[in-house]
Amino acid sequence: MTEATIKWSVDKVPTPAFVVEENLLRKNLEILARVKEEAGCKILLAQKAFSMFHFYPLIAEYLDGTTASGIHEARLGYEEFGGETHVFSPAYRPEEIEELLPICDHLVFNSFSQWHRYKDQVLNSGKSAGLRVNPECSTQDDHAIYDPCSPGSRLGILDSQFEGEDLSGLDGLHFHTLCEQNSDDLVTTLKAVEAKFGKYLSQMKWLNFGGGHHISREDYDVDLLVSEVKRIKETYGVEVYLEPGEAIALNAGYLVAQVLDITENRGVFNAILDTSATCHMPDVLEMPYRPHIISTGEAHKKAYTYRLGGPTCLAGDHIGEYSFDQPLEIGSRLIFCDMAIYSMVKTNTFNGMPLASIMAADAQNNLTLVKSFGYLDFKERLS
Ligand SMILES: *Cc1c(COP(=O)(O)O)cnc(C)c1O
Repeated sequence: MTEATIKWSVDKVPTPAFVVEENLLRKNLEILARVKEEAGCKILLAQKAFSMFHFYPLIAEYLDGTTASGIHEARLGYEEFGGETHVFSPAYRPEEIEELLPICDHLVFNSFSQWHRYKDQVLNSGKSAGLRVNPECSTQDDHAIYDPCSPGSRLGILDSQFEGEDLSGLDGLHFHTLCEQNSDDLVTTLKAVEAKFGKYLSQMKWLNFGGGHHISREDYDVDLLVSEVKRIKETYGVEVYLEPGEAIALNAGYLVAQVLDITENRGVFNAILDTSATCHMPDVLEMPYRPHIISTGEAHKKAYTYRLGGPTCLAGDHIGEYSFDQPLEIGSRLIFCDMAIYSMVKTNTFNGMPLASIMAADAQNNLTLVKSFGYLDFKERLS
């Protein structure tokens, strides 16, 4: 991995804060625009991964719309992005359908039971409906909690459940089974989708390939993705949608934090930061993974090793062990990489922790404070 160069003033960032760079977002979006153009498909922003709506007008220059995991994301996409608004939910409430129909273009259902429950309403509204299918094809071993194809999964309809069902009124099928994967895994998945659901595809208008395509990652095979999209379009006469989340803001944002204190316990030096794993980057503990921090190495690779932890009372609120060329000091600033995706959207106020500010670096790397938070953001979620 090549080390990122930061061109904005790190010292001006009120820590902790996310900083998302316009130039890095554009770099990803150019790649996605190339896929759209060469493959002739549509690409949506999966807001679940990245909902920094400050940048929606910029993203909308390149992409066709948004997809939502539920009612509030759908509304955000409709209000702030425009274009097409798609939504999927494992189960919709009746009142949500009322609210979604006026603002969504595609609604994807997770079972025949849900489809039958809302079919008349959807058809009367003239909106496009689809079913999420489950091709029972696991292509990832590392992240079992992100595998919708595991036995017993609640996500997607099995091919055996299509028997005897009437597909009239349905426009499309949707699958989402990948997570941070390359196009070779898409090839494997498409084979399973075609074997199980190919017979229904010619009656459909669209096939949505879901997210999890790591298209903007350096080693991603874009040409293979393009050829697969074209092949599906030609074979079945359907329009193809991709709805990546990560790929849009991959490596496009940082979290800047400061050292508050340094303590020692039986030979381990703890640097206590003003950012918390559990509050500001919960995937570090949930996924789990070890974020990269600029100018650091693995434990003991460089001269000074610290365990980095948050200011909460959770004993396990630490990010990992990192080594540095110089000793850390109170006030030292650390820059965590790849923090735009699945961090900002997952922050929380456990322990009454202040939320991290949100900043944007424009094309000239000037910083804007887009949003800061206070006590009321904590208090108003409780009573
Ligand atoms: C999570 C999700 C996405 C986006 O996935 P990424 O891994 O962020 O690309 C797209 N579609 C659906 C249905 C999802 O659940």
